[in-house]
Amino acid sequence: MEFLVKADPELWQRIGVDVTRLSKMREILSQMYKNMFLNQEIRPEGMKYFDEIVSNIHTGRIKEIVEAKEEGRVVVGAFCVYIPEEIVVALDGICIGLCGGSQATVPDAERILPRSICPLVKSAYGFRISRVCPYFQVADFVAGETTCDSKKKTWEVLNRDIETYVMEIPPMKRETERELLFKEVVRFKEELEKRSGIKLDEERLLKGVRIINRKRKALQRLNSLRQHDVLPISGKDVLLIEQIAYYDDPERFATKVEELCDELEDRIAKGIGYGEKKPLRVMISGTPMAFPNFKLHNIVERLGAIIVNEESCIGTRYFKDLVEEKNNLTDQLYAIVDRSMKVHCAIFTPNEERIERILEEYKNSKADGLIYYSLTFCQTYLIEAVKVKQTCEREGIPFLMVESDYSPEDVGQLQTRVEAFLETLRG
Ligand code: SF4
Ligand code: SF4
Repeated sequence: MEFLVKADPELWQRIGVDVTRLSKMREILSQMYKNMFLNQEIRPEGMKYFDEIVSNIHTGRIKEIVEAKEEGRVVVGAFCVYIPEEIVVALDGICIGLCGGSQATVPDAERILPRSICPLVKSAYGFRISRVCPYFQVADFVAGETTCDSKKKTWEVLNRDIETYVMEIPPMKRETERELLFKEVVRFKEELEKRSGIKLDEERLLKGVRIINRKRKALQRLNSLRQHDVLPISGKDVLLIEQIAYYDDPERFATKVEELCDELEDRIAKGIGYGEKKPLRVMISGTPMAFPNFKLHNIVERLGAIIVNEESCIGTRYFKDLVEEKNNLTDQLYAIVDRSMKVHCAIFTPNEERIERILEEYKNSKADGLIYYSLTFCQTYLIEAVKVKQTCEREGIPFLMVESDYSPEDVGQLQTRVEAFLETLRG
């Protein structure tokens, strides 16, 4: 089956992309996508929309965003789920995720940043300085946060190249921090009001909350369908959808995920899926896997197991909770804060809620084992692995720790370790 990530050199030139380099990168991406995704057996028809999205990742969606900018809409590039996209949408803006998941731009970043920081940050920074990410090129400004040290110090460097707004995220979750986060959400709202020239009122915000809640609800529904004995979709495809959630139009995305869920429910009812072959079910927990980081999913699923859950910000942490609807602006802003406070990223301390949540998701997903995934040099997730491992040992959950970056160098070694882990599960 042919697959091509489309090119639009004229558009790329207009927004300042390095056309030669992006053209080469899209050829590599086309090949990778074709090999990883299109050869899967029993793939749902509804995945065609998401294939289209990938095919148009550097063209169609960018064109839509450029047109929106021409209408005066603000485009925000976000680096963390703590950036309140409900507010961006409420003020007619577009919020796109900019975390990097590709090795291609890591060497660019390493010419300036230290090597010993995580690849997610290096990849994103490299995309900007090498001008091969059309999303970076169309963002009016980027919004980062003070979660981990790698990120907060990189924002100072990135700010030399593109205006970088920084939101303070407190590392604890007490009442004091709730108030601090509320002030930060209000400050972000004021920044966007200034840029968009629109004043946020309760009606607008409620609309933004409903749009994003609908997107999260669709993702919740999709994830719950992986809990059936008949598995109607691969983990790779779900990860792809979770990644696309960060840059597609939120309403269209929700509609397409809902349509896919209808098809998957029908498949489950008819017994069409991976259940017949009884593959091993594996849950992943850890650092986010930004597009196009499919490395671990690809290894696990090539070895015959299926991934049934991602406890990650590109995964359940993004969609497991909705923002409660309120009838006045202040309460609604607090409701946004309260949902955010339930995102159990490893940067928080203490973080018992995350451990409890992992156990709950493990039980719900009916997984046979858990792979804890951390990007190299991600201190918080690496250290938190200690507690997750102890908990798994206590609960009798088979556990494998994987630390990796985006380079292909460790694929063979990872494959051997995952294979041995799957063997113990079979045993
Ligand atoms: S893992 Fe932490 S820093 Fe990264 S997006 Fe999630 S909350 Fe933000
Ligand atoms: S993966 Fe870890 S080190 Fe990298 S940005 Fe996320 S929290 Fe920070």
